[in-house]
Parts: sequence; C-alpha cells; structure tokens
Amino acid sequence: MRVSVLASGSSGNATFIQMGETKLLVDAGISARRIKKSLAEIGVAIEELQGILITHEHRDHINGLVTLTKKYQLPIYSRANTFRQMYCRDLLADHCCNAIVDCLAIGDIRIESFSISHDAADPVGYSLYRQGLKCTVATDLGFVTTGVQKALDDSDVVVLEANHDVDLLQQNPAYPQTLKQRILSNRGHLSNQDAAWALVKMRKKKQCKVLLAHLSDENNKPDLAYDTICKIVSKQGCDLIANMDIKVTKPDETVSLDDGYNLRSEGVG
Ligand SMILES: [Zn+2]
Ligand SMILES: [Zn+2]
Repeated sequence: MRVSVLASGSSGNATFIQMGETKLLVDAGISARRIKKSLAEIGVAIEELQGILITHEHRDHINGLVTLTKKYQLPIYSRANTFRQMYCRDLLADHCCNAIVDCLAIGDIRIESFSISHDAADPVGYSLYRQGLKCTVATDLGFVTTGVQKALDDSDVVVLEANHDVDLLQQNPAYPQTLKQRILSNRGHLSNQDAAWALVKMRKKKQCKVLLAHLSDENNKPDLAYDTICKIVSKQGCDLIANMDIKVTKPDETVSLDDGYNLRSEGVG
C-alpha cells in the first residue's frame, strides 16, 4: 500500500492511494496540472489512475474535476446528492459520474463509504481494503460519530482531520463569530483534541500510520497539532514509537508514508 497526501487544507485536498496494482485519488481539490505534477514526483503517471473518490462537493475537494474528466476521462465516484450539488456538475461528462451508495470495488480495492457530519449534501469518508490491509480517509467532520469511529477501527493507515486548535480559533480576531460557530459546530471541522480522542478510541492494529490532514492555516499550527495529539494519545497508553506513527500533511507539498515503507499484511506476500 502506498499513501501520499498531495495537498491538504482549505486551499485544496487530494490523496493518492495505491493498493495492489490499483491507483486512486480521494478528492481532487487542486488543479489537474498540480495533481499530474505531484503524482509524477512520486513516480506515478496521471493516466495510471483508475478513479477518483469524492468525499463532498466543497470546492476544496473538487476543483480539479472538470479538467481531470475532460482530459483524462477519469471516472468519479460519489454519492448522488454530492454530484447534484457540485458547482461544476454540468461540465462533467455523464459517463464519468458514478453515483455510489455504500460499497464498491475498483480493481484490487474494495471500498466502503461512510457518512460523516459536515455541512454538505451527503458527505462521506472512505475505507479502502485489500488483503487484510485497510486505509481510512476521514476529513471535514464536525465530530466523530459512532459510524466514523467504527470506520477507523483496525486501519493500517488513517488520514484524519486535525483542523484547528479550539483556543486559537476562538481567539482569532479575523474570524467573525458566525464562522467560528460554523467550524466548531457538529457539521463543521474536527479539532486537534477530537482527532486525538478518535485515535485513542480506535481499535488498533499492532502498527498504525496516521496522517493528520486539513489543518487550518490560521487556526492551527503543524507543531501544535502534532504535539497536542501525541500528548493525548501517549498519555492514554499508546506507544508512539512501536504502535503509532503520526505525520502532519501540508497544504502545498506531498507527504507520503515513509519512503520505501511497504505496508503489507502479515503472512501476505
Ligand atoms: Zn474541506
Ligand atoms: Zn468541506
């Protein structure tokens, strides 16, 4: 399994995941040109992609879709209501738009979508499976529902939102109260602390890789997110050296699982 977060945050989100021979993107919120370039940097040609899973219709998750479908005819998968609410729906060829309900399979990967709580039409996260390995992507969520918590269980790789520090957000003079309330609401974004507790409560495999995602530029700091989360999970008994490896993703730089790190299920070649 390979996982690379190509871009993360309110200016655009895209995550590359490879399991077996199948290569997918979760979200395409940056330009097709940038996606092509970022993929090339990790040795993947954009033409090798077999599909794009979309979590929800906010622009920071779909900005690259028009070009990706026009130029590369890439199939897109999302909930029907998400397609309906896309600002660019009329520009997407019908044969590229695949409405999903819960589960689907693309190549070697089995995919489960799960509902998340966010101010969008029908937002979802995704768990991807192959031969005992599981990767879960959960960003843009106001809080961790029972369904999300269950989806995180037993993941080998988790891409999890750590959007803001509640104090930084509340003290930010540039943010109007209504926007603060929206972010803090049950349909807003996940705080560092809530992300940490989701990791604490998650049923864990021996080794888990965590990529913290969708950090706010203004209401969070990479070090603060990392320190807050590491402190809580280690205090709750998680060994950050042996059991959980945490990394922070970046808005405009690719963050991958360790170079050469080839995650394989035990007993599977
Ligand atoms: Zn977003
Ligand atoms: Zn959103």
